[in-house]
Parts: sequence; C-alpha cells; structure tokens
Amino acid sequence: MCDLCPRRCNVSRLSGDRGFCGAVDEVIRISRAALHFWEEPCISGTRGSGTVFFSYCSLKCVYCQNTEISRGLAGADVDVSRLAEIMLELQERGAHNINLVTPTHYVNHITAARDIAKSRGRTLPIVYNTGGYELPSVIKKLRGYVDIFLTDYKYADNEDAKKYSGVSDYVEFADEALEKMVEIAPLKFENVEGCRDDNTKQEIQIMKSGVIIRHLLLPGKLVKAKNILKRLYNKYGDSVYFSLMSQYTPMKNFGINNGVDMSNIDENLLKPVTAHEYNRLISYAERLGVKNAFIQDGSAASESFIPPFDLTGVLKS
Ligand code: SF4
Repeated sequence: MCDLCPRRCNVSRLSGDRGFCGAVDEVIRISRAALHFWEEPCISGTRGSGTVFFSYCSLKCVYCQNTEISRGLAGADVDVSRLAEIMLELQERGAHNINLVTPTHYVNHITAARDIAKSRGRTLPIVYNTGGYELPSVIKKLRGYVDIFLTDYKYADNEDAKKYSGVSDYVEFADEALEKMVEIAPLKFENVEGCRDDNTKQEIQIMKSGVIIRHLLLPGKLVKAKNILKRLYNKYGDSVYFSLMSQYTPMKNFGINNGVDMSNIDENLLKPVTAHEYNRLISYAERLGVKNAFIQDGSAASESFIPPFDLTGVLKS
C-alpha cells in the first residue's frame, strides 16, 4: 500500500492501482533523460546536469510548468535496470551529476537503480529534485543515496498550498523534510578543470553535496515570498543555498486535472511575475544578508526553458 508521500493514498500500486500521482509500481514512466543546462550553475556547470524527468507527480500544482509530464501525458515505461543504464549513459556523456526530477513517487525504484548503477561504476552525485512535499521518514532513508537536495519551498502558508496544490499540510511536511535534507547533505563543492562561466570567465564550483532551496516567485505573492525567505534564512543561514526564481510562466493548460477548486484561483496567476516584484525580492535577500543565493535574469520567464518531453534518452538505442 503506497504511503511514499504525505498524500498517503494507501493504494496497491503493486497490483496496478493508481493513487493521486498516477504512477504504478510495475514500471517507471520517464519523459526525457538528457544533459540539461538550465539548472543553477553549480548543478549544470559547463557539461550539463544528467537530468531524468519522471512522469506523474504527487503535487500537480495548478500553475505547473511541466503539465505534460506531471499528468503522465508524456513518457515511456521502463524498468529499474533501464533506469540504472540511463544513469550510466548520462555519466558517460559527461554529466556533472544525475538529476532526478519529481522523484518522490519512484523513490523505491530509484534506490534500487542507484545500487545497480553504483555496482557498475556510477560515481556521480545524485540530485533529488523535488517539489518539497515529502515525508521526513522517506527523506531520512535517502542518506547514502542522495547527495544533493534541490528542493522547492513553494508556499508561506497552507491557505495557498490548498488553493494551488490541493494540500492543507504543505508547510509542516516541507519544513520537517527540509530539516532532514539539511542533516543529510552538508555543503561541499569541487573545482572541475575547465569549468568556467562563458561570460565572466570565472571558475564555476560544482556542488558535490548540499541543499538548494528554490522558491518560484508567484505573481502578486512578493510579501509571502519574503516571509519564506526570512524564516528559512533565520533558521539555516548560509548552511544552504537559496535559488530565487522569476521564471513563472502562465501555462496554456492552466489548472487541468488536479482536483483543485478552480473557482477560487487568483487571476494574478494568469500573468508573469514583473521585474519590479522580482527585483524587490532580490533587494530583500540582500538586506537580510543572504550570501548563498542564485538569481535569474529577466529572460528566464519563457516556455523555451521547458525542454521537449520527447523521450530523448529514455529507451535503449
Ligand atoms: S506516491 Fe502517489 S500513490 Fe503514493 S501516496 Fe503519494 S500520491 Fe499517493
């Protein structure tokens, strides 16, 4: 019975039943496995992050930027041994890490694949790239399996979590899970020869272990974003990195199929974040004294940053 995430659907995925996320246990559905250059610089470096986009999702936010995959509309089904091969293929292609996007509902498959890949020579750090709605008990078990947590912290309060993701306990679970992540993954970087920023020519340090807390600024939610940043910075200081994201993109499929009452949705979500809102968030981070932060430039809010979910790298060639 599946209780891998706080939804605790209690369905038998082994028998083919589906819970909220839509995944079953017999197969792993993946929509793309390729080098990805649009993560934070310490993750993408110059050679790219070896990114595996899993289909289905346990959150399915109404403003989801990857609707095609979160709803399971795109993807091909593979088994654990193929996932292990994908990890090794990404390593051979020069990736700096193996970056598992929306991994929560496949966590058991991932740990099994990681063991196989490790026995066959996988050495790259594993990145757990999550929406942050996690059971602390599951995160605890990832010690030794995951090196880097790239985790969203989406909401300042459960009122927004309920409105946009249909969960009334996001804050509690995100907080407890984040505590475990910080315990498991202390900050460590390494210098990689030839890894320099094209524009500044400065060396890029590649993350080997650590936690990056991402916050996607939603239109009209500046005050709440500041509250999140202040609270988490007061708690974790410079022992983590913050990634303040401006790339919110109103999507064509806004709100499909997520069980949220759409009559209650804020019209603000139909437009992008303004430069003014985002710049005020950055200024606020500076005033707080945040040293470890990534910010985005204005061009980030574009659907072109969403890769094609065309099964690249998924099936054996
Ligand atoms: S992983 Fe999927 S089936 Fe399991 S509890 Fe979460 S949403 Fe439900």
